[in-house]
Amino acid sequence: MAKQAQAKHIFGIDLGTTYSSIAYVDEFGKAVIIPNAENERVTPSVVFFDEENIVVGDVAKESSKLYPDDVVCFIKRAMGEPNFIFIHHSEQYRAEEISAYILKKLAQDAEKYLGEKVMDVVITCPAYFGINEREATRKAGEIAGFNVRQIINEPTAAAIAYGSLDSSEDRVVLVYDLGGGTFDITMIDIRKDSVEVICTGGDHHLGGKDWDDRIVAYLVERFQAETKTDEDILDDPDTWQDLQLSAEKAKKILSQRPKTPISVTHGGERVKILLEREKFEEITEDLLERTIEFTRDMLQEAKKKGYNRFDEFILVGGATRMPHITQRIEKEFSITPKIFDPDEAVAKGAAIYGWKLTLNDKLIQRITTQTKQPIRQIEEISEMIEGEVITVEDVKEAVQHVADETGYTLPSVESSMLRVKNVTSKSFGIVAHNPSNMEIVFNIVLRNTTVPIARKQNFYTAVDNQKSVLIRIMESETSRVEVPVHNAVEIKTAVLNLPPNLPADLPIEITFVLNEEGRLHITATETKESRQVEVVVDTASVIQGEEFEKAKARSQALTVH
Ligand code: AMP
Repeated sequence: MAKQAQAKHIFGIDLGTTYSSIAYVDEFGKAVIIPNAENERVTPSVVFFDEENIVVGDVAKESSKLYPDDVVCFIKRAMGEPNFIFIHHSEQYRAEEISAYILKKLAQDAEKYLGEKVMDVVITCPAYFGINEREATRKAGEIAGFNVRQIINEPTAAAIAYGSLDSSEDRVVLVYDLGGGTFDITMIDIRKDSVEVICTGGDHHLGGKDWDDRIVAYLVERFQAETKTDEDILDDPDTWQDLQLSAEKAKKILSQRPKTPISVTHGGERVKILLEREKFEEITEDLLERTIEFTRDMLQEAKKKGYNRFDEFILVGGATRMPHITQRIEKEFSITPKIFDPDEAVAKGAAIYGWKLTLNDKLIQRITTQTKQPIRQIEEISEMIEGEVITVEDVKEAVQHVADETGYTLPSVESSMLRVKNVTSKSFGIVAHNPSNMEIVFNIVLRNTTVPIARKQNFYTAVDNQKSVLIRIMESETSRVEVPVHNAVEIKTAVLNLPPNLPADLPIEITFVLNEEGRLHITATETKESRQVEVVVDTASVIQGEEFEKAKARSQALTVH
């Protein structure tokens, strides 16, 4: 295999709540994780603002004990949050920039390891992320200096990695993904030539960290009982950090052993507590039950789409190592779930997807040159063959050419033509008035609809010569068409700047396009002379404008440690 002829690498990044990792596809077509400078395959998503440096990973995690105020953990939970600001030495940092430092650490270490610059990336996010969180994830990548090719869902990435192991049989798979901070449950139809998400559900605020928090609360209670105080020892940031770290360690030990001793030190007193697995399971039972309820709800939704059964149940995400998760699933669904590469599947799947994008670009270019037929997407190929615009031989020839050019095998280039279909995890609508003149959210795109999707909606001018229309774009988690305003979140506002001299009551046609990444584009046309209407979209939840440029410049000037 000719190494010098190999395609430029694209990297897959799992930007996790507690741990992150980076992977690429090697010259044999295999996804591999790139170890960090500490020779670990996952890097704690922890950022320490030292006096002069920014430190990410294990050292930052250790520093959290000594300098709790200078350390940021679980930043993923703040993505897309308009009110989150971290202040250090009078400088302000938004979640996107702090996440960018984690990405920089992964990229820097990968560059050292491979001797190659990390530029093109695919980054994953929970299926449950809405528009703003996804956009924030993309912005984090841009601040880190990457060309973000796509943001894809974590369970889809895991399914791609899983499907890549054996594509001989079609099967419907449930992906139960319990990470550090999020829970996703997704049904995926894996076939030889496609990976299609059928339905997705989950909770943005439920993950391994909640299991840690329960241990912390239990330790506090026991400490208070043993020392006969009612002091809230978590008010002391050092104790808080210490307990967080001890709780996570204990949780991991309990995945292997029936009990573990934990020592709690505060205010000069030290208490030794023995935590048994049974007790741990008891104090976290409701958390596990919530994941089962989300799974049941998702299965109900899948039924509406004609999927009444599934063939396999796979577990990804570090927290699925807790043995009671497997036991509970066996009891509920009478199937033995398989733990699949819990820490690495997502980054590897993202790398495979990125690799597919690169090969697809080459195939598209080649088929276009060969046949003089412009192709925009690899998905169009089968339609073009059916429509006799191109032939199967044209595609075979192009596949052979790309295999020769890149050094990859024919079957691996063929497999890159895999179709990936996703659904939106949220419903999107606008605020309108119902017949009783009450404000309600009228959903235009319902959740679990396959993306990309374009939907049109008419708005009407209220008065003659109206200058503009304000549209409030709302995101919600129900599948109903009409939703009370308080059950939805305003994610953007769009101002339509109207051309002059339009009469009252004139329809303005608005098109919402939700692309395959879950990004929303809005276009508008006035129906009198079919002129395009300027749409100015605003969102305060994602870094932009000057703030974005400043963060980018600051990140470029900086090496993380
Ligand atoms: P992820 O976001 O997929 O990396 O998952 C990280 C979560 O998995 C964190 O909450 C970890 O504490 C948790 N985790 C990792 N290993 C284990 C284990 N052996 N037992 C229980 N939880 C674990």
